Amino acid sequence: MVSEEKLIAFGPVPSRRLGQSLGINNIPPKICTYSCIYCQLGRTNNQIVQRESFYKPKEINHTVKDKIKEARGQGETIDYLTFVPDGEPTLDINLGKEIELLKTLDIRVAVITNASLLWKKDVQDDLSKVDCVSLKIDTVNEKSWKKINRPHRSLSIGKVLSGLTEFSQGFRGELITETMLIKNINDNTRELEMIADFIEGLTPKKSYISIPTRPPAERWATPAAEFDINMAYQVFKERSIDAEFLTGYEGNAFAFTGNVEEDLLSITSVHPMREEGVNNFLSKAEAGWVVIEKLIKEDKLVEVEYKGKKFYMRKLPR
Ligand code: SF4
Repeated sequence: MVSEEKLIAFGPVPSRRLGQSLGINNIPPKICTYSCIYCQLGRTNNQIVQRESFYKPKEINHTVKDKIKEARGQGETIDYLTFVPDGEPTLDINLGKEIELLKTLDIRVAVITNASLLWKKDVQDDLSKVDCVSLKIDTVNEKSWKKINRPHRSLSIGKVLSGLTEFSQGFRGELITETMLIKNINDNTRELEMIADFIEGLTPKKSYISIPTRPPAERWATPAAEFDINMAYQVFKERSIDAEFLTGYEGNAFAFTGNVEEDLLSITSVHPMREEGVNNFLSKAEAGWVVIEKLIKEDKLVEVEYKGKKFYMRKLPR
């Protein structure tokens, strides 16, 4: 049997967003304000919007401290203590207190939230204490929101979006966003432009464009295609948003190990490369276009077009 302790703190696990991240699960499974069609935890069986008390803040603190000790004993480093539960972390009424206690441990604290309760003043206050917050913004269109996130019936998209804007204006830490792209729902030009316009106003440090990489709650929730993911990236870039892919590959935008194929796959896992960029890269590495042809043939790289220009990106996992 898995102990409660193990359920509350886990890792550390490597994360591109947060480095070595020790996860904190402050919500029993699966309590959420949303029931996203792509949720890897399945459908939400307990959908609420009222904040509740689940665990005692001291208990969480104690468990996290033990886990830190254990991890350090094994020579592991920890960059972030991250609230990333099996549900929505801001439903925890003790979140603020838990963050305060964790901050005394001298490790940065992050919260990954669906942002649906950010219009509540107490939730804003709690999140204002962390070093990094990741906000889910899959869509700004009510119809798509209801289709993708299947929110609690008392929530309104207008309120959620104004909560996000209000919070972003006062937040002093690192704000990042994550947008999950689902085929035939939020992957069209109009929708992507609306999302990008909204995200631009939040001035995030980084915006991740992601796709479902684990079995989703609904089998029909399929990832957007490479063409549309590239379009999302370009639409974000046109608004000077620092975008990156989170598509199931661990990549590095600045990879240069000397292995041309690996480096190209690593870079294009993070963002698409323009044809000119690929040419520059190849000439620096003293390699030819034959490398690209080979990777395309092996189904590892894909060529996509946007506004008449060619881009190359890592083929998505299927
Ligand atoms: S917000 Fe997160 S936990 Fe809640 S249903 Fe969506 S993906 Fe699952």
